[in-house]
Amino acid sequence: MLYHSYSSYLRQRYGEKVYKLPISLPVTCPNRDGSCGTNGCVFCGEIGAGYENLPASMTVGMQIEANKTHIAPKYKANKYIAYFQNFSNTYQPPNVLQEYLAQACLPDVVGIAVATRPDCVSDEYLAVMANIRDIYKVDVFLEMGLQTVNYRSLTKVNRGHTLAEFIDAQLRAKKYSVETCAHIILNLPWDEDIDVVENAKILSALEVEQVKLHALYIVKNTVMAEWYKRGEVTLVSKEEYIERVITFLEYISPNIVVQRLIGRAPEANTLFTNWQTGWWKIREEIEQLMAKRETFQGRRCDYLNGKEVRKFL
Ligand code: SF4
Repeated sequence: MLYHSYSSYLRQRYGEKVYKLPISLPVTCPNRDGSCGTNGCVFCGEIGAGYENLPASMTVGMQIEANKTHIAPKYKANKYIAYFQNFSNTYQPPNVLQEYLAQACLPDVVGIAVATRPDCVSDEYLAVMANIRDIYKVDVFLEMGLQTVNYRSLTKVNRGHTLAEFIDAQLRAKKYSVETCAHIILNLPWDEDIDVVENAKILSALEVEQVKLHALYIVKNTVMAEWYKRGEVTLVSKEEYIERVITFLEYISPNIVVQRLIGRAPEANTLFTNWQTGWWKIREEIEQLMAKRETFQGRRCDYLNGKEVRKFL
C-alpha cells in the first residue's frame, strides 16, 4: 500500500462506497467579518471553498437530497457523509450549530464532517459534536484549516491564527474523541522542504486522524492574485509539488488517512490551478513515482516516542 487512501478507509469502515455531500450554511468567518480580520486569508476568494455548494438559503435536508439526486447515480454510493464545508461552520452559537447538525442526521448519512478554523473550536462546540454522535449514532469529524505549521507563513497569508490555536483545538478534540482532519497547503510560497517535513511530524505527533493536501491555487480578485500578477510570489513547479507530497507521505504516521493529495478548483475562478493539469493526473504521477521508488507512507516516520533512547530498551 503506497498510502492510506480515503476511499479504502471508507470502504473498510463502512463496508461500501461512501460519498461526501457538501452543505453550505449561512455563516462567515472571523477573518472576514472584522472579528480578527476583514480581508480574509490572502488566497481566499469571495465564495470561500464552496465551488460545488448549493445556496445556503436551502435547508440542510434539501441540500442533502438535491446533492444525492445528482451524485448517487454518478458515483453509485448509498451512504453519505454530510460535509459542512464552506467558511467557518462553528462560527455561530453552539445551539444553532447543534440544530443544523441534527438536521443532517438522515437515515443514509453515516458521518458528519464540520469544517472550520482552529480558533473557532472550543469545548462547547466539541461537546455539541460529541452529543450529535452519541444521540444519532453517526461519526463526527472536525476538519480544520491549518495550511502550514510554519507560523511565519501563517502571518504572511493573514491567517489570523498561528500554530498554537491548532494545537489547542486538536488536543481538545482528543478529549471529546472527535476525529480530526487537517487541511494543508504544501506549497505556500514561503515554505521550504523543512516545513513540509515539519508539517508531517507535527500532525503525526498530535495524532491527527486524517489529512487533506492542497496545492495553492491563485483565486482571481484576491490579495494573492495581486502578488502573483506583480511577480511578488512564485510557485514551485509541478515536479517540486510532487516531491513535496511524497516527502510528506514518507514522514507522516502510517495511521493517518489521506483524504486528498491535491485539491481542485474551477479554472474560471482562478489565475492558476494545479499547473493546468487535471488533479487526477497529478495524483497518478505521485502514485507512479512512489511505486517506482518503492517508497510508502510512514517510511521515515521514526521520530516519535524517544528515537534516541530506543537503543537502551
Ligand atoms: S479562514 Fe477560511 S473562510 Fe476564513 S478567510 Fe481564511 S480561507 Fe477564507
